[in-house]
Formats: sequence, structure tokens, C-alpha cells
Amino acid sequence: MTSRYDILFQPIQIGPVTASNRFYQVPHCNGFGWRMPKGLAAMRGMKAEGGWGVVCTEETEIHYTSDLSPFFEGRIWDDADIPSLQLMTESVHKHGSLAGIELAYNGRDASNLYTRAAPFDLASRGLVGGSGYEPGQSRSASKDDLKQIRKWHRNAAIRAKRAGFDIIYCYAGHNLTLAFHLLSKDNDRSDEYGGSLENRVRFFRELIEDTKEAVGDTCAVAVRFAVDELLGAEGMQHDGEARDIVGMLAELPDLWDVNISSWKNDSITSRFGKEGHQEKYIAFVKQLTTKPVVGVGRYTSPDSMVSAIERGIMDMIGAARPSIADPFLPTKIKEGRHEDIRECIGCNICVTGDTRFVPIRCTQNPTMGEEFRRDWHPEIIAPKKSEEEILIVGAGPAGLEAARALGQRGYRVILTDAKREAGGRVLLESQLPNLIEWRRVIDWRLTQIQKLENVFFYPSSKVSVEDALEAGAPHIIIATGSTWRRDGMGRYHSRPLPGNGNVFTPDDLMSGKLPTGKVLIYDDDHYYMGGVLAELLATNGCEVTLVTPAPTISAWTEYTLEQSRIYKRLLSLNVTLLPYHALASFSPTTAAITHTITNTETSLACDAIVMVTDRIPNDSLYHELKPALADGRLKSLRLIGDAEAPNIIAQAVFSGHLAAREFNEVIDPDMTPFRVERLFQSRNGDKIHEEDKGT
Ligand code: ADP
Ligand code: SF4
Repeated sequence: MTSRYDILFQPIQIGPVTASNRFYQVPHCNGFGWRMPKGLAAMRGMKAEGGWGVVCTEETEIHYTSDLSPFFEGRIWDDADIPSLQLMTESVHKHGSLAGIELAYNGRDASNLYTRAAPFDLASRGLVGGSGYEPGQSRSASKDDLKQIRKWHRNAAIRAKRAGFDIIYCYAGHNLTLAFHLLSKDNDRSDEYGGSLENRVRFFRELIEDTKEAVGDTCAVAVRFAVDELLGAEGMQHDGEARDIVGMLAELPDLWDVNISSWKNDSITSRFGKEGHQEKYIAFVKQLTTKPVVGVGRYTSPDSMVSAIERGIMDMIGAARPSIADPFLPTKIKEGRHEDIRECIGCNICVTGDTRFVPIRCTQNPTMGEEFRRDWHPEIIAPKKSEEEILIVGAGPAGLEAARALGQRGYRVILTDAKREAGGRVLLESQLPNLIEWRRVIDWRLTQIQKLENVFFYPSSKVSVEDALEAGAPHIIIATGSTWRRDGMGRYHSRPLPGNGNVFTPDDLMSGKLPTGKVLIYDDDHYYMGGVLAELLATNGCEVTLVTPAPTISAWTEYTLEQSRIYKRLLSLNVTLLPYHALASFSPTTAAITHTITNTETSLACDAIVMVTDRIPNDSLYHELKPALADGRLKSLRLIGDAEAPNIIAQAVFSGHLAAREFNEVIDPDMTPFRVERLFQSRNGDKIHEEDKGT
């Protein structure tokens, strides 16, 4: 039977290799990197199992002089790195997919904090790798150095081939890599690698030629090239030199993987960019080459994917985030199960794996990053072990996920919520400016729950301790969420703030109770909430001042790549930004704020204060039910999500999923409940990677 989506499943030749379909997991960072090769291999293997025709690594350091620490990326410095990379190629090949490796030689965007080598770049310039402000400069690469770097790249390509990779990249994107820097208009070297465009392209061309010559007989040679930096005439432009560069190199590589730079533009969050947002920049590439073109744009809709191919924008649908949120996206499209696709919400929590140096996690897919250490599979879960019924109180992200996953296991689940609609905090937060895609957290779970005959959802049902016990379920899971504090207590203040005034909380604002006039938002939460409420109120005509003890506004959004856009939006809405300030006291008409370094106190006129500080777990029902557990009326009682410990939505989903996986299991609190990849020195001096469970 033919289907509109067949085009997505047509094989495509990439140089000497053939991809089985058009689903291409582009290189993406993950926080595992070289440090946890087993976790990494299992995660990549899951993508292949889910139907991605090509599965790539993250950027992979080719030489110790380009060391991306403190980030954990790939590493192929020498032959000793081959075995751990082989774990990945084997896990990808097991499912018939192609494995790609993104070889990277970064210049001043490598910090070299670990190796202490001087990174080579086109000139001696301040380092921008690591924190972005690491003291030190790069070393200007001579012509001989460039020759040497080409040799390192060639050697890395040969090693990559030996490790089993099918596609080998030359990388010039994301405003990273020496090759990209050399392409820049700022490259004023006086030798044949600087000045004219032909000269600036020389190194990139040589890398591609070298790689083809070294491994091109059996491996495809791909390029990853950023066609626009969104910097106007200051940077690479899709309708400027990028067009000339693609034209000059058009038929040289076997595949063009094109995107926009920097990473914050490429991986723009849904708050600031929508599906297919890169099309207008990359569309020209296919007009200049006959080679396959891969593009990204957080495509989760099968129709948009088909359309992107049919309109000649790209040949293969590249994806990082959609493949993280749903490794089985291709399989689900193939089987016509579109409603089962767990669509990425564009929150960039996955990115924080890399930026916080920990294994990747995902708001929508709680199994992401847990494939190896917990044996979690995104589609498969152990069947039930008993016929016992479970009552879940609260249908926020934690309760919904627990109900869905327990239902998938086959348990009979009663899910209740006091509100008329499921979703808890996500229902409210997704109505804040530009966060509507977050609703997908609810929608996907409700769709799945509706298919399960053993899960019963009762909205508008506030559960008391008596109700809970009368319901008769021997197991109760409490997922009753949390409530924003009104008293200013948080990271900065350990005691309630003195004062009386018109105090609002995010809960007030999200339920439609809005302040007017001059409003001071006190943000001691530091993620998106303070900034998004400032946007809401400023758009509503309030005169908003955002006060935070942190050195920057919405500090943690730096890790989700959103911070500069938040600043820009708030400044464009004339929000006054006061970092390094804490709210000290307030009255109905004024607020006293203190500079956190100098202690200087300032008084501000304000009609209302919005406290975005800590939250109080709604755990009273749990505590009220504990005696019933103690006297045997209940067999188990578990507190999950924000009711256990307020955190981000991803953590609530994870907590719900964990509760479902651990249900009816005996958990030893003295044991580490997952495998740890340990590197230890054996007595004879051999370094051995060893995973160990719970010891
Ligand atoms: P989490 O992020 O942990 O899932 P949320 O705050 O999003 O938490 O969701 C908690 C949900 O629990 C809310 O929808 C709320 O209406 C519901 N809830 C809280 N207390 C009760 C209760 N006693 N009975 C039923 N539902 C409750
Ligand atoms: Fe998408 Fe958020 Fe998951 Fe990343 S963490 S894949 S942005 S849903």
C-alpha cells in the first residue's frame, strides 16, 4: 500500500554508502561523550533501533591540541580511542543504520584546560571555548601547522574508518572549528589561507579532499556547514558568501549537512522559533549541488517532513531534538502511528546535559540517557507483576507519566485531579507567552492514556485522606505538585521577608489574577518563570522591574541557550533589569532593595510585587496517609514530582516514570540503583572501563 509518507522511507545513496531512509540523526552533544562510552553507545543504538537511517556522534576531538574540556564530547586522539567508539558503531549497525562521526578541530573555541596545549587558530586571539572567558589566547597557525592539522584530521579519518564509521564529517559550523574561522571575512592572513574567498576556502577544501583520498573508497565524506550566523554583514550569510562557498565546493563532499550558527540559533527553543525555522536560510543549497542535503528545524510533523523534501529544501530530515524526544519517530511514521509520536517541546533541557556536563535528559522522554545505566527502553516496559490497583492523586506531568507507564505495564490505575483538566503546572505554564508547545507534555500522555482500558481518569475530583482510603486501592501515589511561596523565602532569604503589600505569586498570575501599574518581580528562581512573567506583565501594560540577586537575568537559561534572547525581549519591552539586587522589605507603595555586593539600599515605587522564589511541596496528603501505611491499610505510598521536591517539568516526568518502573519492585536504599561507568586502574596498570551496579 502506498502512502503519502513513502518518500521518507526511500533509500538514498551517500557516496559509497546507502542510507535506508531519510531520517538522519545529525551530530548532537549529550554529556556522555568520551567519558561514558557505554551509556553513549546505548543511547545512539536506541535511535537506530527506532528507525533513524543515519546516527551520528557529537563533535569529536581529533587531537589533544583541540581539547573541548570542560565539556564531554567525542574523542579520537589516537588508536586507544577506537574501542570505545566501536561500541557505538556496533550498536548502530546492529539495527542496519549508518554511523557518522563529526571530526572536529576547534581553534580558539577549544579551551584546552585539560591538555594545557596552545590551540591553533588563524591568529592569536582570546579563547572563547569553555566558559567563554577562559584566560589565554590561541596560537597563530603557520602554514606548516595547518599542514600538520590536516595530517591529524586525515589520521583521525582513518581511525574513524577502522572504528566502523560509514560517514565521516569535515566540520565548519556553529562558529566552531578552525575551518569555519578560516572561512570568515575577518581572516586577513597574508598567506594563501587568508584574504580572498578562494584562499579562505582552501583549508576546508583540503580537509574534504584529504578525507576523500584517505577513506572515501568505503566511507562517505560529509560536510557540516553553517550557512548563516544571523549576524548580518558581520558574519556568514546565506545570501552572501555562504552561497559562493557552497557553489565552489558543490560536488566535492558526498553530503551537505547545513544549518545556521551559533548553537543558540541552530537549536532555538520553541519560545523563540518554530518548526522549520531554518528553511529560509538553507533552501538555496540544493540548487547548487546534486549531493544529498540534510537540514534541521525541529521537525516533528510527518507532513512537514514530506513537504520539506517535496519542496526541494532537503533530501534527508535531520534531527537532534526530535530524535531525543522520540527515538522511535521513524518507526511510528512507518507504522502510521502518528499520534504516538512523542513530540519535542523545544525546551532545550536536553542541551543542559552538555552545558552542565551530565548525561542528557529530556522533558518528553524520561528514558533518554537511561538506556544503559537503567536498561530503560522508550517503548518497552516490564509487564505487571500483580493484579493490584493503584490510586494516583494529581494529574500534572508526574501523575500523568506515572499513570501512563503503569497503565502500559498493565496495572489498573485510578488517576484523579482536583481540576477540570489534566496537566497541572504544564496546563498553566503552557499558556504563558510563547510556551504553548509545552502542552505536548500533556497531550501525548492523555492520548496514550485514552488508549489504555485499564487507566481511569477522574477530573474535578479533589481527594482527601478519607477519599483516598475509601477508594480501596492498596497502593497510592501522591503527585499533588507544589505551590509558589508568597513570603520571599528562597535561595537568598532563609526567613520570610518583612512587609505588607500587594504580593502576587506565579500561581496567581497563571490563574488570571494580574497586578497593574508599577510591578516589581523578585526572581530568586533564576530559570524561565521570572522572565516570562515580566514579558506577560510588560505586554499587559505594566511598568516592570525585574530584580534578582543573581549576576544575570534568568541565569539558568544560559544553559538552555535562551538567555540572550530573553534579555533582548525584556529590553525591547522596556523592562528594567536589576541583577545583583535582593528584595529587602516592602509596603503597599514601595520596595526596598539591597545590592548583594555593596549592601547599598535603594527604594523603588511599586504597586505590586511578584515573588518568584521557592515553592512549597503540596505533601500534606502524603503525610496524612502515612499512618495508614504504618498500620497496614496501605501496601505502598509514594510521593513523586514537585510534591516530593519542586523541580523542572523534566524531573516531574522522570519521577513519575521512575515510580512506574519501580512499582512492585524491592528497592534497596543502600544500593546505587543504576550502573556506573567507572574508570579504574587495575593492579597491572591497565586502564579498564568497567560498569558496576551498586557497589
Ligand atoms: P507535578 O509537576 O509534580 O506533576 P503539578 O503541580 O503539575 O505537579 O500537578 C499537581 C496536580 O495535582 C495539579 O493538577 C493539582 O490540581 C492536583 N492536586 C493537588 N492536590 C490534589 C488533591 N488533593 N486531589 C486531587 N488532585 C490534586
Ligand atoms: Fe525536545 Fe525538550 Fe526533549 Fe530537548 S528536552 S528533545 S527540547 S522535549
